[in-house]
Amino acid sequence: RHALERAAAAAHLGAFLHIDADGALAAAAASDARRAAGQALGPLDGVPIAHKDIFVTEGQPTTAASKMLQGYQSPFDATVVARLKAAGVVSLGKLNCDEFAMGGANENSAYGVARNPWDTTRIPGGSSGASAVAVAARLVAGTTGTDTGGSIRQPAALTGITGIKPTYGRCSRFGMIAFASSLDQAGPMARTAEDCALMLQAMSGFDERDATSAQQPVPDFVGALNALRAGATPDKPLQGLRVGVPKEFFGDGVSADVLAATRAALSQLEQLGATLVDISLPRTELSIPVYYIIAPAEASSNLSRYDGVKFGHRAAKYSDLNDMYRQTRAEGFGPEVKRRIMIGTYVLSHGYYDAYYLQAQKLRRMIADDFQAAFKVCDVIAGPVAPTVARAIGSQTDPVQEYLADIFTLPASLAGLPGMSLPCGFSDHDLQKPLPIGLQLIGNYWQEAQLLHTAHAFQ
Ligand code: GLN
Repeated sequence: RHALERAAAAAHLGAFLHIDADGALAAAAASDARRAAGQALGPLDGVPIAHKDIFVTEGQPTTAASKMLQGYQSPFDATVVARLKAAGVVSLGKLNCDEFAMGGANENSAYGVARNPWDTTRIPGGSSGASAVAVAARLVAGTTGTDTGGSIRQPAALTGITGIKPTYGRCSRFGMIAFASSLDQAGPMARTAEDCALMLQAMSGFDERDATSAQQPVPDFVGALNALRAGATPDKPLQGLRVGVPKEFFGDGVSADVLAATRAALSQLEQLGATLVDISLPRTELSIPVYYIIAPAEASSNLSRYDGVKFGHRAAKYSDLNDMYRQTRAEGFGPEVKRRIMIGTYVLSHGYYDAYYLQAQKLRRMIADDFQAAFKVCDVIAGPVAPTVARAIGSQTDPVQEYLADIFTLPASLAGLPGMSLPCGFSDHDLQKPLPIGLQLIGNYWQEAQLLHTAHAFQ
């Protein structure tokens, strides 16, 4: 009831697209009944959460923040939703995001912007913008997000919360509306690494209904939080941890406040026992063109299913079948989604495939190889999440400039590596309205436990 009241009172933040009060109260009552009957409780029993509206949910509408899916109702739950339900959570409903998760500001939603609770004239980041808002404004304890090129880490950073994008394949994509299938990953967003560990524990694991879900054992993420590393002591919990500092992440484009907070965080890691190691990720800049070829290419294919026949919206007026497709897609998709479909179709078309798509795939492999070279000399990589703090809503109209802000999150996405964002300070531009800054930690494949342990020690 408390969470529902807070959610209702925070309508101006634009966080929820759908609040399922009846469903939430019923789930909470069921949790109470389990408790009263002395039954075994799930690890997240009775904990109020909410889902990014990119996960399909039985009994609640799913729109992917698109007009194309207005009124769509899934007959089943996404695997991540079902697993959290099995762990006992109480879902309040569905959260705003960028349309089909395309964006970095939550300004591309067909249902209005989401606002940063620290300063409501500013963006919360995106695409899982409202997932970050709901936690930052303390509407719910945790939320689900998805990260294709930074959409968990970047909004977490801009709103001062913690979020983790696990290794590609760790969480099932079944029932997660596809944007770019080789990059999309689900992950938790919450106040702390500890809360993220609790949620990730429930969300992770092989799922035969997702062909790219990995047959990897799920470690004890919660137990790993306080597990003492070999050679570490309680006051030097990170003793022996080698933290790689990529020089490309500390260049000209990064604002002074972000640089200062990130450098301070690095010294704090040192005080906790870690050793800093200079490393290089030489193809960092190339991650932008590479991602903005591969992601739209996959999106153009994935979004071909929205044809007015199978799901959601269909144009009211049309002359024949082709015209029905044309009108439906013209009405249903917003401008950023259309832009990506056009780019994606172009780079996959005959004569351009070799020049763009194939080249991008080759560079993607080289970006992944750069990380493997770095992980020979360090255990985790640390740097900024975003080059600046949250900007004003409506202040960026050039899509290419907007894409550049993804520079520090795209490399780990292209490599399929786990990455997380944790709060590490504030901008001092206006002491009345401090704006959060996030520290990014990137780990090697399947090393989420190490990221969570490091973040927990830091917090
Ligand atoms: N900002 C990036 C994009 O617009 C990442 C989005 C995401 O991770 N879903 O594609």
